[in-house]
Amino acid sequence: MRLENKVAVITGAGSGIGKETALLFAKEGAKVIVADINEKSGRETAAEIENAGGGGFFVKLDISDNEQSRQMAAETMGKYGKIDVLINNGGIIQDALILKMTGEQWDRVINVNLKGAFNCIQAVVGPMVNQGSGVIINTSSIVGLYGNIGQANYAAAKAGLIGLTKTLAKELGRKGIRVNAVAPGFIMTPMTSSVPEKILEVMKEKTPLRRLGEPGDVAYAYLYLASDEAKFVNGAVLGVDGGLVI
Ligand code: NAP
Repeated sequence: MRLENKVAVITGAGSGIGKETALLFAKEGAKVIVADINEKSGRETAAEIENAGGGGFFVKLDISDNEQSRQMAAETMGKYGKIDVLINNGGIIQDALILKMTGEQWDRVINVNLKGAFNCIQAVVGPMVNQGSGVIINTSSIVGLYGNIGQANYAAAKAGLIGLTKTLAKELGRKGIRVNAVAPGFIMTPMTSSVPEKILEVMKEKTPLRRLGEPGDVAYAYLYLASDEAKFVNGAVLGVDGGLVI
């Protein structure tokens, strides 16, 4: 029970890495706020938590919407009176080579992946400052560190999250709030299900551990950073990529 009595908001918790994390955090004793734009999958995650004896609730949230993010935080405060952990895990891809990328593709990916983190952080940081404690985890990517063909919008957003993380680690550390990032490699989730088998094989070959990641690999990294075991870890970018360099 490494998160006993903690209240954790996890965005994008209806699917993939977020869902695995929500189930793990609930098992570790946290009350989990399953925040997702996808009502069906989000409600399913929340129901699985409840059926397993865990606590928390689902909230429909488009993280690119500042007002909705504030409402999510207000609902959480209303129910539990505190927010211990925020994981900015929700994200999307809309890939295209730069010459073909539309302004809409650029804006949506930046607005969800990068501004979405800003919105949720602004919504929870007031309560965290008042509590004098909190943990914020931003989900970057190996693509934010090295770039990737066809993902200029996504790579820019994920690199931006690293700058955001390092800045807030400095701003908020003195308030008792730790801010870190996780940079996953290739993880088998619905997001990567459209990647051609051939490319996944190449990624596997390039990975020293010779496999692709599973959602649980990232969920356990989040768990470490969210727990008190990481109480001196602040401003870090934790790679969860099997040693892959792209
Ligand atoms: P996923 O299975 O697609 O899950 C993402 C979840 O976020 C989905 O439930 C999705 O809903 C939701 N979402 C999308 N837009 C949202 C919005 N505006 N507001 C709230 N929720 C929203 O993806 P995943 O692979 O688990 O990815 C989780 C995070 O890890 C993302 O930030 C991703 O960029 C990052 N990441 C993934 C990999 C990888 O290889 N999988 C690698 C590096 C980093 P819908 O299903 O309706 O879209």
